[in-house]
Amino acid sequence: MSGADGRLSLPRESLKSHYEIAVIGSGYGGGVAASRLARAGRQVAVFERGREITPGEYPDSVPKMIEETQVDLPETHIGSPAALFDFRFNTDMNVIVGCGLGGTSLINANISLEPEARIFDHPHWPESLRQESRAGSLAPQFARAIAMLGAKPYPDSAPRTEKLAAIGRVAQRLGRPLQRPLINVTFQDGPNHAGIQQSACIYCGDCVAGCNHRAKNTILMNYLPDAVRHGAEVFTRMRLEFIARGGPSWKLFFRPVTGLLQPSQPAVEVTSEVVVLAAGTLGSTEILLRSRDRGLTMSDAVGSRFSGNGDMIGFSYNSEETLNAIGWGRRDGAGRRPVGPCSTGMIDLRDSPSVEDTKILVEAVLPGALAAVLPEAFAAGSKLTGIRTEHGVLNFVRSKFREFGSLLFGPYAGAIHNTVTYLVVSQDDSGGQLYLDRDRVRVAWPGAGAAPALADASELIRRATEAGSGIFVRNPVWNRFNGKQLFTGHPLGGCIMGDDAGTAVVTHKGEVFAGRTGGEVHPGLYVMDGAVVPRSLGVNPLLTITALAERSCERLVLDRGWTTSYDAARP
Ligand SMILES: Cc1cc2nc3c(=O)[nH]c(=O)nc-3n(C[C@H](O)[C@H](O)[C@H](O)COP(=O)(O)OP(=O)(O)OC[C@H]3O[C@@H](n4cnc5c(N)ncnc54)[C@H](O)[C@@H]3O)c2cc1C
Ligand code: SF4
Repeated sequence: MSGADGRLSLPRESLKSHYEIAVIGSGYGGGVAASRLARAGRQVAVFERGREITPGEYPDSVPKMIEETQVDLPETHIGSPAALFDFRFNTDMNVIVGCGLGGTSLINANISLEPEARIFDHPHWPESLRQESRAGSLAPQFARAIAMLGAKPYPDSAPRTEKLAAIGRVAQRLGRPLQRPLINVTFQDGPNHAGIQQSACIYCGDCVAGCNHRAKNTILMNYLPDAVRHGAEVFTRMRLEFIARGGPSWKLFFRPVTGLLQPSQPAVEVTSEVVVLAAGTLGSTEILLRSRDRGLTMSDAVGSRFSGNGDMIGFSYNSEETLNAIGWGRRDGAGRRPVGPCSTGMIDLRDSPSVEDTKILVEAVLPGALAAVLPEAFAAGSKLTGIRTEHGVLNFVRSKFREFGSLLFGPYAGAIHNTVTYLVVSQDDSGGQLYLDRDRVRVAWPGAGAAPALADASELIRRATEAGSGIFVRNPVWNRFNGKQLFTGHPLGGCIMGDDAGTAVVTHKGEVFAGRTGGEVHPGLYVMDGAVVPRSLGVNPLLTITALAERSCERLVLDRGWTTSYDAARP
């Protein structure tokens, strides 16, 4: 049953007081759980705090970006709690997550990469998972995830883009091959494997502001419609605050999410036999921490081993070469050179002897919705933190001309037209701690930004910038002025999986441990999202989160004597 206008979500009036299975959150973990458990013929309801925002409704200008931004600071919260871009500012580590039906898939860069097998050899993974990885038996879950997400490399038949050529030159300088990672993007018109009509990518580059062209394979395009077709009910603007045990069922206490100017609404209580927390690393940990404060017993490890996945972002600004790496936004694409999907090229540096030294470098696009503010922001930012990679007088004069060019003629000329974003995914020691302050989850991680791996990651972006004789502009918060704060879009941990409650919050299947020690679990309470991942992965995390959720669902279904189907094609 789907809602009005072909939307997936239903009006709140359709909400029942009891469900067999409640899935909280609708990103990768939530999408998998909803689809696989609905396919098992169970009565499933999905609850998402954000709105259902569909292609055509994503922000394409600065005012719309502002409207779709919420900022959570230790003292206060600015912006609508239903806004798409959800920034969490903390003292050491800042995080960005998505808020909307489909979760962070709506605003991510689409890259689907499998970690190296040795990542799963770390002692923080549960023993059974380590063994399966060694035996190669995690492969089916990764394959299922790739099939459902429709992940494929940027095709050879697609237009050549300047940013892909530029990272190719960086690869040459580093003596490495340029690779094209799998990306969750569609390159042909027609119904996809989930029966959803998609359109071919138009190469506008705006993926991280939300794809307005139905080409990005978000969870809204695959797992969620699959779940709805198999009978799942979806409710948006429903934020789970905490859970408690109530006889044979779980009691779920929701607070409906309203706009800034709307009056707050009374809490809603729903009961459910099985609860799958899939509210993301921050969301699921926050729910468990609140539930613990209200009496639910669990491991003391809840909140621990938060990781930013070793993320480091930086910019090659005002280089000598045209890079064309700013999305089109609301501008007409006619006559414009294709920018390409956000990330299409990668340099793999994961062959180091120690797993803790591995890195990948990918190129990325800044969305056109921000284009208008970029010339001034980069002109100012490069003066504060920029590092020139070429010191000749001619280069200096040319770069000044280009900077004036962007300030006078806009972001599709001059310095900004010659700017590309680079992301390095490296490793960290998962040393962050999530905790509640004034009932909101925060990250504590003193000294996180001083890790040597991050200095190496930053140096790698500087070397990439050198290839085009540009100015290396560091991540604006990772600089000498504010004590090297970090920013991540890949939060992991907080409800980590492991062998017992002494060290972990959930089992290898995602079941929540019931006590502070031992292996007893709460019946029917699961976590399936980035929160269960106990270490940095060395690659962007969506594929691992999806594959682990596939594995947890498989076990849940088997344990209960149910059956489900895994074929990606329409039944
Ligand atoms: C800009 C950006 C680019 C990225 N690019 C990539 C990439 O290229 N490749 C990659 O692998 N990863 C990428 N990521 C990260 C990736 O998208 C996330 O790791 C992934 O989405 C996490 O999946 P999840 O299921 O754990 O949580 P999410 O996808 O974040 O989903 C959690 C959902 O739960 C909802 N929720 C939260 N709290 C509650 C509550 N209390 N009640 C109800 N609902 C709640 C949220 O609104 C959200 O919809 C990127 C992230 C960002 C921000
Ligand atoms: S490049 Fe444009 S059309 Fe293609 S997936 Fe990204 S946002 Fe969609």
